[in-house]
Amino acid sequence: MNFRDLRINGQRLKSTIEELAQIGGTPGGGMHRLALTDADQKARDLFVRWLGEIHLEITIDEMGNIFGRKPGEKVDLPMVLSGSHLDTQPFGGRFDGILGVTGALEALRVMRENRMETRRTVTIVNWTDEEGTRFSPAMLGSGVWAGRFDRDWAYSRQDVQGKKFGEELERIGYRGRAPARKWPVHAYFEYHIEQGPVLERIGKRIGAPKGILGIRWYDVWVEGKANQAGPTPMDARNDALVAAAEMVLRVNELPGKMGGNMVATVGEIQNSPNSRNIIPDRVRFTVDIRSWDDNLKKEGAEELEKEFAAISKRRGCPVRMELIWDIRHTVFDPSLVRRVEKTARELGYSDHSMVSGAGHDAAYVNEVGPTAMIFVPSIGGRSHVEVENTSWEDCEAGANVLFHCLLQSANE
Ligand SMILES: [Zn+2]
Repeated sequence: MNFRDLRINGQRLKSTIEELAQIGGTPGGGMHRLALTDADQKARDLFVRWLGEIHLEITIDEMGNIFGRKPGEKVDLPMVLSGSHLDTQPFGGRFDGILGVTGALEALRVMRENRMETRRTVTIVNWTDEEGTRFSPAMLGSGVWAGRFDRDWAYSRQDVQGKKFGEELERIGYRGRAPARKWPVHAYFEYHIEQGPVLERIGKRIGAPKGILGIRWYDVWVEGKANQAGPTPMDARNDALVAAAEMVLRVNELPGKMGGNMVATVGEIQNSPNSRNIIPDRVRFTVDIRSWDDNLKKEGAEELEKEFAAISKRRGCPVRMELIWDIRHTVFDPSLVRRVEKTARELGYSDHSMVSGAGHDAAYVNEVGPTAMIFVPSIGGRSHVEVENTSWEDCEAGANVLFHCLLQSANE
């Protein structure tokens, strides 16, 4: 049999994604499956069952990363790795992360049913806490594995209720024994939805990102003085929320001021005491700054710091800005990126060279071994929302590209 003619099973891929979407699905058709929740546990259980069904060697490491290994003929050669994440945003979509895990699973299922042997071991992975919504920063599982973060620091990260990552990992039964430590990787492919509008706009099917924008995350605390909303005159207030509102606007104006392809976002805010008739005395909000240019990103953050200080002074509201995550822009392995483009063309799909605005586990794995990603169009360019969608034809096309990229790298 000529393996070049083999294709993945699009129908099976679709039903796998639909089955996963039952776990933590929202009435609006989206997903609410935050890392290390009961829903995450159920999705993991199902994933592990699927790995067992195709007889993969399963390993769970101390960060809860789940690996399924299909041994190659030369088990001592560096392996080929592929996967993504099963956790989602609150009210996120059915495809972000999930497509990369199920796409790799589908590729391994096809290898299994065709009794295909590869020279190198092929391993599928589900990385823990990619989204970073419940436990920040994002990509904690792959970050510890790649040696970027300390394991015990990751265990100590807390959600807004004060629950610790390590305790929650233990609670759902996914604190494995294998050390969360990198090993030699011959090639890592992460299949993912684009999460932006580019592919749809230009009518291309497969995106081959040359890398990922650098990202900086801050937590900002603004302090004011709580007081009765009625008797306190307007000129005698230190309103933390009003100061924060001004700061939010400065964040939005920052990319226009700095230029380049920078984007900046405030996506989360907590106001205290959050009462109709009390002047707010404590506000926390997040800042997310991204750019291909790492220096510009740093200069942008310094500019914000200056502007926040001026607002703070004028309104008598002390401000504290804490850097909690800084990742440089990622340049993927050019020969693997070319492999994605070439494979797409050989399979008859249009392809497009681009960059990724979203962060991915691929950024950390790229520090360990050669890495590339495969993108497919997001309908309307929407992601991290319930209406996030990708056509089943595109899901299938991307999985075929992944399957053939994996085969080529595994047989080198
Ligand atoms: Zn993702």
